[in-house]
Amino acid sequence: MELKRIAVIGAGTMGCGIAQILAQAKREVLLYDADPSAREQGLAAIADRLRQQAAQGRLEPAASEAAIAALQGIDQLAAVGTAAMVVEAVPERLNLKLAVFAQLGQLAKPAAILASNTSGLDIDALAAAAKRPDKVIGMHFFNPPPTMPLVEIVRATDTSEETFAAVMALAKGLGKTPVSVANSPGFAVNRILFPMINEAIYVLAEGVARAEDIDRMMTLGASHPIGPLALADYVGLDVTLDILESFAQRLDSTKYRPCPLLREMVAQGALGRKTGRGFFSY
Ligand code: NAD
Repeated sequence: MELKRIAVIGAGTMGCGIAQILAQAKREVLLYDADPSAREQGLAAIADRLRQQAAQGRLEPAASEAAIAALQGIDQLAAVGTAAMVVEAVPERLNLKLAVFAQLGQLAKPAAILASNTSGLDIDALAAAAKRPDKVIGMHFFNPPPTMPLVEIVRATDTSEETFAAVMALAKGLGKTPVSVANSPGFAVNRILFPMINEAIYVLAEGVARAEDIDRMMTLGASHPIGPLALADYVGLDVTLDILESFAQRLDSTKYRPCPLLREMVAQGALGRKTGRGFFSY
């Protein structure tokens, strides 16, 4: 199944990264955001990144310009009706995603595949909202999409073999390594990663080691490319807290209980890199 024209919904961090790699893989990309200024900023940021790569010799100038030309902003969601596939990357709120999937179910071509970049929400719920359960799938890219090689591919109960095969092939065509994972809270990577970050915060809060040393030990002793506390600062401490709370609730286990220090820092507005202060200062 050739997925030549692909719409991306949500022009934030992830939507723009996904739109960029699709355009670089010679797809025609339609980019939509509920906020038109976010869409325009996103398109400009992608063009800047591609031109910068060309200026640094990391990309042929012609390839950079071709990718920029392949990207088109759309100001009505109904324009997704010309796409063979839609990738949704709106914020991680179930009700918002359900509303978007209900609209996509009505506006996209009947044959179009609807993929979500959710970090761990229930793909079955999105499939039910779209009313085309065989065509809905999770396609979880990692941040930043242009450089992170993994894509978790999440089949809902009724996702068809054809949809799964088309999305696996697309991910490979983007130069990624797709790995199939069951539809369960947080899928595999975040389910493993966030309890580790939480434990690092407990280790800090209990005075076992200083923040710098926790990260130094995990990079030198466990070969992690970035320490867990620096990673939490990068993700955002508010996002980290939301993820742990959703695991605690959905997986019904105290092992995901967020460390009280994390709650205190979020309450104080220390959210990591985006506020200039988290476990480290920026
Ligand atoms: P973001 O906040 O950077 O961007 C979301 C964009 O969606 C915003 O521009 C917003 O204006 C737009 N939007 C909101 N409602 C909309 C609607 N109804 N229709 C169209 N656009 C709408 O968010 P993000 O970090 O890019 O995350 C997007 C998704 O990707 C989430 O599901 C998140 O869990 C997932 N994700 C994020 C990361 C990450 O590290 N940021 C990594 C992997 C997956």
